Amino acid sequence: MQYRTLFKATLFVVSVRRVLVASPRGFCAGVEMAIKALSWMVRIFPPPIYCYHEIVHNQTVVESFKAKGVVFVNDVNEVPPNSPLMLSAHGTAPDVEKDAALNGRVVVNAVCPLVTKVHHEVQVRANKGYTIIYVGHVGHEEAVGTMAVAPQAVHLVEKPEDLAYIDFTSDTKAALLAQTTLSQDEWQSVLEKAREIQPELWMPGRGDLCFATTNRQAALRSIATRADSVVVVGSANSSNTVALTKVAISMGAARVLRINSAEELPDDLFGTVGVTAGASAPEDLVQEVIAKLSPTEGVEEVKVTLEDEYFPPPRQLRELLRSTAGALHLGTMSDGAQLSPLGDDRQRPASDTLAALSHQGTYS
Ligand code: SF4
Repeated sequence: MQYRTLFKATLFVVSVRRVLVASPRGFCAGVEMAIKALSWMVRIFPPPIYCYHEIVHNQTVVESFKAKGVVFVNDVNEVPPNSPLMLSAHGTAPDVEKDAALNGRVVVNAVCPLVTKVHHEVQVRANKGYTIIYVGHVGHEEAVGTMAVAPQAVHLVEKPEDLAYIDFTSDTKAALLAQTTLSQDEWQSVLEKAREIQPELWMPGRGDLCFATTNRQAALRSIATRADSVVVVGSANSSNTVALTKVAISMGAARVLRINSAEELPDDLFGTVGVTAGASAPEDLVQEVIAKLSPTEGVEEVKVTLEDEYFPPPRQLRELLRSTAGALHLGTMSDGAQLSPLGDDRQRPASDTLAALSHQGTYS
């Protein structure tokens, strides 16, 4: 038994030669904004703080916030009157947003501005009488929230064959919108079929797939064909993480694994391993995966573009911080830096905020 364990450990250590790590990977600007916003809520209010849906779809992030007294709910009516309530990055149905604001609740909406943009497109096209083809995943929170903007006009389509269930006539004005986090291929296949049916199809300039989604997929494409296997770090309910696994498969990667953390790595990987992470996966998890793979010939980062987008904190949070800053002792971060309401928000990565959250006593 001892020999077997030793043999397995030795095999693991010597068999991975090289790691190719994709860049960009991990946290996007929308996730950065949402995590920092919820961290401010934790600092401003005593627990419990409520959050409608997972703030972002990542187990590690969600558990960190639970440990700090954040309660995640799927119904805003579960939230007691006068309580602090954050709405998640995925966007919220207009009716739910209205209900959330009832009974004196203090609501901060951490929706990503790029999801808000799609909500706006739905509203405008519906008002103009369009039939909206919305490419998305059934039951995903972003899709549910977006479709609720104009349910009478929106048809959810997951694959080209679903278009057969929509009644198009010669008078139909059709628009094609999409969930921001799909794989390029699944979106493209619906677009092509929709254009065959409705050549005058309207769609926003370059479509609704966000920069973070397309950048992470492009970076993965640049390593997938060079790797014996591809590891995608992220949660199973993260749409853009699942999209990355689809991209790796479509590029012909022999083995594609989605894992939550390094503990889930199998011990039979070999040769060159490609590594990337979904937009809601912390960089710490990626570094732990690379450390566990322990490649004998080192790590190569393959960067396809520089991503420097920044989304400022939600308006309601900025107002809250302005009105409470004088009364709050905001304290210091673990590196000794003084916390100031929003002054250094752009320079302060969400990973620092999460690390500070998980270490008791780092806020004084
Ligand atoms: S993946 Fe795109 S749409 Fe989603 S939070 Fe990030 S930037 Fe926003």
